[in-house]
Amino acid sequence: MPRLILICLGLKYRGETMHQKGSKNALAQKLNKDPLLKNFIDYVRFDTKADLDSNTVPSRKGQLELGAFIVEKIKKLNFDVKQKDTGVVCVKVPASVGFEKVKSLCLLAHLDTAPDASGKNVNPLLVENYAGSGIELENGLIIDDKICPELKNHLGDDIVVTDGTTLLGADDKAGVAVLCTLLERLSSGAVKHGPLTIIFSVDEELGKSCSHLDVKEINCDYGVTVDGCDLGEFDIATFNADAAVVTIKGRSVHTAVAKGKMLNAIKAGSKFIDLVSSIPSPETTEGLEGFVHPHDIRGGVEQCVIKFIVRSFTKDGLIKLEDKLQAAVSKLNSLYGEEIASITFSFQYANMEEVLKQHPKFLDCCRKSFEDAGVLVKENFVRGGTDGSNLSNEGLPCPNIFTGGLCCHGPYECLPVASLHKSYAVVEALVKNMAKLDAL
Ligand SMILES: [Zn+2]
Repeated sequence: MPRLILICLGLKYRGETMHQKGSKNALAQKLNKDPLLKNFIDYVRFDTKADLDSNTVPSRKGQLELGAFIVEKIKKLNFDVKQKDTGVVCVKVPASVGFEKVKSLCLLAHLDTAPDASGKNVNPLLVENYAGSGIELENGLIIDDKICPELKNHLGDDIVVTDGTTLLGADDKAGVAVLCTLLERLSSGAVKHGPLTIIFSVDEELGKSCSHLDVKEINCDYGVTVDGCDLGEFDIATFNADAAVVTIKGRSVHTAVAKGKMLNAIKAGSKFIDLVSSIPSPETTEGLEGFVHPHDIRGGVEQCVIKFIVRSFTKDGLIKLEDKLQAAVSKLNSLYGEEIASITFSFQYANMEEVLKQHPKFLDCCRKSFEDAGVLVKENFVRGGTDGSNLSNEGLPCPNIFTGGLCCHGPYECLPVASLHKSYAVVEALVKNMAKLDAL
């Protein structure tokens, strides 16, 4: 196969794959002509990393600072905007004349970035015309198809990356940029629309954003989070999610005289993990399969506490997994001949699908907006939760759409610029289509 060998060699230079590198100048030149990209780059310079160990709301001052920066911009557009003490920014956009009665829409994005990697001194760079053979970041990290399989769908795109020492923050500053750019466009009066509410939330990455949002106060018929990943993603289902805590009581006796008396909770905990090892777990499941996942274990001889998350797309599936955990508790107790173990379950979030199914017209309106923007819709079941999971179940039906960001939550995070523009195009089309919803 000499032809194939030649092609393979063509990607190599002196035995090394030719990776592309990002450029500061290339990015600077684009910013003059691209207000959406400019907004995004302005926002990634704020350190808004969600902080797991913080007791403040929001968990990092940078979220307040980015919120305040945005508020100043929106005030100049003459919209009614407020930043609450929690850091949540809320913008009320009254309907265009004649469109006051159409269904109201809330659009949401979050100001914080993931706690998994630094968001300080983000140094964005632009890779122009991606050629497909990987990107080398300034610190030597390589973004290629192995680490980011979606990249192969972005040949020819300009892609924003970092220098490799931080995350980029496309999750979710790309969503924030889309919504701020929408507000700029709406202020010109060029788009006819119904009543809109735009919300920039805080600490979404800590799962806390919805605790600072009140669906009654938002008072909209429908919602959409702009917080997804690759081009075309339309998230219409999430897991049902519960937490489970197993507590195992031991008996501590001095080791000198422990024979026949001591009950070591650490060993019983280890036995319990053995008993649940055949239940589906994240490492053994994919697609629509649910799982049980022990994520924290701590204790001593006297007591061992193991924390689990339980996930399934169906409520029935969730109950079956919980029954298996319950059966393992009973088994452990029978092995020890006494009630040493107990389990409690608590609700975390519910699948948005049950709620969204009741609003087919709204989902069709979203699908049509993808179509109008020239984007092939990829309906997606999220193996996790979104803000929309909680909001939907609290009364605001709320799917999630893509921002274009790839490989989020770490230094490999990157953003194809064309995808960011498509995200904007879908959102603007949605605002227009919502004004015609009853006619669809
Ligand atoms: Zn996000």
